Amino acid sequence: MDTILGYMEKYDFENLLLCQDKALDFKAIIAIHDTTLGPATGGCRMWQYESEMDAIEDALRLARGMTYKYAAAGVNLGGGKTVIMGDPKRKDREPIFRALGKFINRLGGKYITGEDVGTTLRDMEYIRMETEYVVTLPTYLGGAGDIAPMTAFGVIRAMQACCKRVYGADSLKGKIIAVQGLGAVGHNVVEQLHALEAKMIVADIDEAKVKAMVHDYGVQQVDPDVIYDVECEIFCPCALGAIINHDTLDRLKCKIVCGSANNQLKAERHGELLEQKGIVYAPDYIANAGGTIYDTDRLGVGGVSHERGKEKVSRIYQNMERVFEIADRDKIPTYMAADRMAEERIRQIAEVKKYRDELRP
Ligand code: NAD
Repeated sequence: MDTILGYMEKYDFENLLLCQDKALDFKAIIAIHDTTLGPATGGCRMWQYESEMDAIEDALRLARGMTYKYAAAGVNLGGGKTVIMGDPKRKDREPIFRALGKFINRLGGKYITGEDVGTTLRDMEYIRMETEYVVTLPTYLGGAGDIAPMTAFGVIRAMQACCKRVYGADSLKGKIIAVQGLGAVGHNVVEQLHALEAKMIVADIDEAKVKAMVHDYGVQQVDPDVIYDVECEIFCPCALGAIINHDTLDRLKCKIVCGSANNQLKAERHGELLEQKGIVYAPDYIANAGGTIYDTDRLGVGGVSHERGKEKVSRIYQNMERVFEIADRDKIPTYMAADRMAEERIRQIAEVKKYRDELRP
């Protein structure tokens, strides 16, 4: 990033807000990318950045990612993100998160925050003391609570759509699925796949988590280093980013890559290489949108409904089908088709909104 405004112009950002309170030792950045579809929404990350510019760039980059995620998911929200510059283990959390809540409240609903790396549901409670513009709340505060099971459900819907494309049928029964990472999402993926009678091979660097899955679901375990090499139909990354790279590409023996991990492609060219190898890639932000679809579903409709939220998450299947249609139509890899799908929706809804505005006096 050469200049902040140059970067904002390049990617068409709306706003960037710098917030600070000397007495509280509080510094935060709120980035608002695009509000065409609705209020800019995206979590609050707390991190010790090397420099102010790194923090600003991260906030901007993540906010733009949220625009694409919501647009492609069919959600009526725009993209935004907050980063708090500071030690995520900092103990005095109430004053800083309440201060952030005040700043967010001043925006009058143009930005809605939530939990992200380095922040917790408890922090969201502090923000909620100062503003209503926060999602990712515990159920006792009217929020959706733990969203990982819905993220896992969305990943499985994406897998089913991929199977339809590759095998002509979307059943996961008997499919061999290699799951990397058995944390909040991964263990729910295993549990739900078990119910669908898939066969799983799992790996995690945390031996206790692996043991629990072997015990509960009779899955096969391999060392974390070996998970890329196993013979399987689907490789399901639910741990780290950048796992599709030059070292791993030639080792993969699957037909489909579909998981929850963010930023799975180390670089965009790895998406093209996957395509050349004949592996169907479910773009990460399409497959892993379930949690956030569920979490934000209550906004504007008066509360959480498990039934309605699950139905909306289930549509990740159709979102994947649309990605494939665009990939075939434009002869591009799926990761590119996902971006195109998001951009097309924003353009189309901007057109629709034009009519609404014309009717106003
Ligand atoms: P988590 O921290 O609960 O779980 C990650 C798991 O990966 C841990 O069990 C960890 O031990 C394991 N792991 C780390 N390095 C590993 C390695 N080298 N090999 C194998 N396992 C390894 O995180 P999570 O919430 O389950 O999220 C997983 C991924 O999905 C992350 O990339 C996250 O950003 C993304 N994601 C999560 C959600 C959600 O709802 N939690 C939503 C969207 C995207």
